[in-house]
Formats: sequence, C-alpha cells, structure tokens
Amino acid sequence: MVNKIIKLIDIYKDYNSELNLFSALNNINLEINKGDFISIVGKSGSGKSTLLNMMSAIDKPSSGQVLINDIDISQFKSDQLAAWRGHNIGLVFQFFQLIPTLTVLENIILPMDFCGVFARNERKVRARELLEMVELSAKENKFPAILSGGERQRVAIARSLANKPPIILADEPTGNLDSVTAHNIFQLFKSLNGQGQTIVVVSHDPVCQQFSNRTINIVDGIIKTDNTLGAGHV
Ligand code: ADP
Ligand code: MG
Repeated sequence: MVNKIIKLIDIYKDYNSELNLFSALNNINLEINKGDFISIVGKSGSGKSTLLNMMSAIDKPSSGQVLINDIDISQFKSDQLAAWRGHNIGLVFQFFQLIPTLTVLENIILPMDFCGVFARNERKVRARELLEMVELSAKENKFPAILSGGERQRVAIARSLANKPPIILADEPTGNLDSVTAHNIFQLFKSLNGQGQTIVVVSHDPVCQQFSNRTINIVDGIIKTDNTLGAGHV
C-alpha cells in the first residue's frame, strides 16, 4: 500500500444550471498520507462536501484526477465503482443514515452482505466485535429509533468499518449532536486513527481539530490554509 493514500490532482468541479456555471472546487491539489486524521473546515457553501465526495467518488470532478492507493478511480463504471467503494471507503454522515427497519446488528451486517469481504458465517461475529468497540453490545437487537443521536452515530461508525476499508470519510458527523457527545465521537475517531485508520472529517466543530493531525481550510473552493501539527499534539 502506498503512503499517499489519497491524491487529488488539479481538481475542478463546476455545477451547471440553466442560468450559470458555479465553480465549487477551483484547482485543488491535495495529498493525504496513510494514517492521517484530517479535519476539513470552512464556511457553509465553501466546497467541503464537494471535496469529500470527490474522494468517495460519490461525485466526479469536472477535470482532474483522483487517485486512491494509486488507482485512478475515474476509470470505474458505476457498478465497479460501488464495489470499489464498498471495499475502500467507509462513509459517515450527519444524519447517520441507518436503516430504521433493521436492528443495530443488522445495520452493521448489511454492508458486509453487499461486499463479500467476509464469509457469510463470519459476518455476525465481526458485527458484534465492531459493536463492542463502539461500546454498544447491549443494543444489538434494538432499532435505531430508540437510540440517542450519539449511539446512532457510533452504530454508523461501526457500520462504516464493516468491510475494513482503509479510509473513513465523515461529513459533519457531529452536526446533529450536543458538544459532549460530539467530543466522544471525535475521541472514537482518534482511537481508530491510533489503530492506523486513515480518517478525513468535515466539521464545523473546532474540537475536531484538537484530535486531528492536519487541518485544511477551504474558502470558495480553494485550499486557503493547510496546517500539519508537530509531535506532542493530543
Ligand atoms: P459545504 O459542504 O462546504 O457547505 P458544498 O460542497 O455542499 O459546500 O457546496 C459548495 C457550493 O456548491 C455551494 O455554493 C453549493 O450551493 C454548490 N452546490 C453543491 N452541490 C450542488 C449541486 N448539485 N448543484 C449546484 N450547486 C451545488
Ligand atoms: Mg457540506
């Protein structure tokens, strides 16, 4: 595996409407190391989600290249892309996106059923291990609706890890949580990062930057500042 796990090269993203062409990303060049924990910050509308969606291939650049583990992901057709994403990217969202009719355990098993990284008879064991890691073993048979917001996000994080993706991308994962719960979620990301997981979090919350080793500030679709912290950080 390469050290520069994510490379964005000369990325432009334009949104076309009938009336105008809006430039959401304007020549982004960015390399992310394996094992980094990155905070992406910036005002609403600055292009943070668009940038994250380039890394997950949820959206395609208008021009430029996205390399993940040195693979140019623009080469994939949509069915190949879904399979690639399942193996390589864990996604965490602001509103959790759990399936309400499935139990906590079933929500975590679902991506394993789609991906086939783990054999059928291994999936429940793995889901239980992940639930234990996020300290929610007692809730495995509950439905998402009865969980607190923080618990739902911990389930969603466990789910994002289901197929052992090398990269976790989270878009405003604490945007709907109180500050104490948010702190716990950032701490969970930090502990995963300590185990070698590469993590990129878009967050308005300055607390996120206390846990990450690098903060990238986006202004109007360009990288305004990019600060890597030295040793001795939390
Ligand atoms: P952020 O996540 O930083 O709030 P986004 O990446 O969602 O910002 O959006 C950046 C800019 O691109 C915003 O001005 C937004 O209105 C615009 N934008 C995002 N998605 C679309 C779209 N599908 N069509 C047109 N404009 C879009
Ligand atoms: Mg956004």
